[in-house]
Amino acid sequence: MLNSFYAKLSALFLVLIVGLGVLLATFGVRAARQYADEVEQKLNRTLAEEMVPRFEPHLKDSIDTGAIEATIQDMTGINRRIEIYLLERDGALKASFAVPDASIEQRRVDLAPVRRFMEGDELPIFGDDPMAAGTEKPFSAAHIEIMGQAGCYLYVILGSEQYASVASMVGESYILQTALWGLGLIVLVTAGVGLLLFRRLTKRLRAMQDVVADFEAGAFGRRVDVASNDEIGRLGTCFNRMADNLEETMEELRQADRMRRELVANVSHDLRSPIASIQGYLETVSMKDGDLPPEERQRYVTTALRNTKRLNTLVNELFELSKLETKQIEPTIESFSIVDLVQDVVMQYEPQAEAQGIDLRAEMPERHVRVEADIGLLERALSNLIDNALHYTPDGGDVRVRLDNASAEVCVEVSDTGPGIPEDDLPHIFERFYRVDKSRDRDKGGAGLGLAIAKTILELHGRTLEVESTVGEGTVFRFRLPVEAPSGPEA
Ligand code: ADP
Repeated sequence: MLNSFYAKLSALFLVLIVGLGVLLATFGVRAARQYADEVEQKLNRTLAEEMVPRFEPHLKDSIDTGAIEATIQDMTGINRRIEIYLLERDGALKASFAVPDASIEQRRVDLAPVRRFMEGDELPIFGDDPMAAGTEKPFSAAHIEIMGQAGCYLYVILGSEQYASVASMVGESYILQTALWGLGLIVLVTAGVGLLLFRRLTKRLRAMQDVVADFEAGAFGRRVDVASNDEIGRLGTCFNRMADNLEETMEELRQADRMRRELVANVSHDLRSPIASIQGYLETVSMKDGDLPPEERQRYVTTALRNTKRLNTLVNELFELSKLETKQIEPTIESFSIVDLVQDVVMQYEPQAEAQGIDLRAEMPERHVRVEADIGLLERALSNLIDNALHYTPDGGDVRVRLDNASAEVCVEVSDTGPGIPEDDLPHIFERFYRVDKSRDRDKGGAGLGLAIAKTILELHGRTLEVESTVGEGTVFRFRLPVEAPSGPEA
């Protein structure tokens, strides 16, 4: 039970509040008692002085106890609770009245308070009570002459038996009782309200604990309701943020794992088929070596060779992509003319375009446009795009490479009049091994890595590769690079 935070908090609070109540009650009663003593002493300040002229006649030759006690009766009435003592000059007790002699415990009184009293010091002043050794009481005192000896003291203890104990004092006082009841009630109400407030506060902690426990058990969608901006609210916000991050990371991990499986499956598939084909052709050649007509034999070897090249390309591309993705290749940024680069790459593809009957042309501004990028990587990306355009565009089609630097950026665009890419496939074409026409003979198309490589290269430059395509009309790939300096003179 005491394990819960609420129980600990409540127990601590109750101990504090009850302790505070007891302290207040003790101090209150003590103060009331002292106040009563103070009032008593102030009211009876001159009592001893007033008694002296009445006592002195009975102290001339001897102490006439009977006469003095009669005088006391006269003066104080029956119920007055006072003790009257005669003290020698050194404070020793000489006689006592209104007190049974047997109950006197202390036969000497400290005179320091008596002197202070007689000098008119601020009241209350407490002096020794001979009836109760070690306790101090309010008193009244005056000089008196005893049997010719001046400078002795008449020492009157006031309220001698009054309120001998706190309990009896409280028992007799309506006001003190009411005050103590009031205090008790205040303590009770404060404790009740405090416990309720603590319950409300800790309820939010309990709710949070439930959410965290659910989260731990696998309910990753659970979040804390944050209703305020205090420490508990902020803790909830922090937890929610942490849960979001965790969920995101888990999703990324799941996706990475899925991609890894797909990659392994794709790679093994793409490796297996050319290897099987090479093996098949070479086995045939080896078995039927003598029987095969030379043309047939040549055809088998050529096919095996083509598959070997394909394998080589695939392995190289995979290796390249993996290095790009794991950032093993860092772009070496240098300043160069993008116009020159485009011209060079287009020229390399001209023979292929011509062989396919495709009109491949570069449309560029007639001046240098300098950019800062990794020239080798950019050439690779551009080649992949032009290669694809030529690959997918039928004979008689057009492929254009446009450079446009109307703004602070230069826009590089590779467009073709090929078959276009269906809308559903567009979001996926940059994924590794993704091919629109999955049934297509893999001999003909690439491995599905060309666009993934181009996209990763541009991402390494902090850029994106965009695509627009209309089925039946053609496809445009586009990326932008920041222009380094104002355009130079004509190329
Ligand atoms: P691949 O090696 O198969 O060409 P890519 O990553 O270069 O792989 O391209 C992915 C897929 O996107 C291709 O299989 C093809 O279906 C489609 N594609 C790419 N470029 C074009 C284009 N210019 N016209 C039509 N389809 C294209």
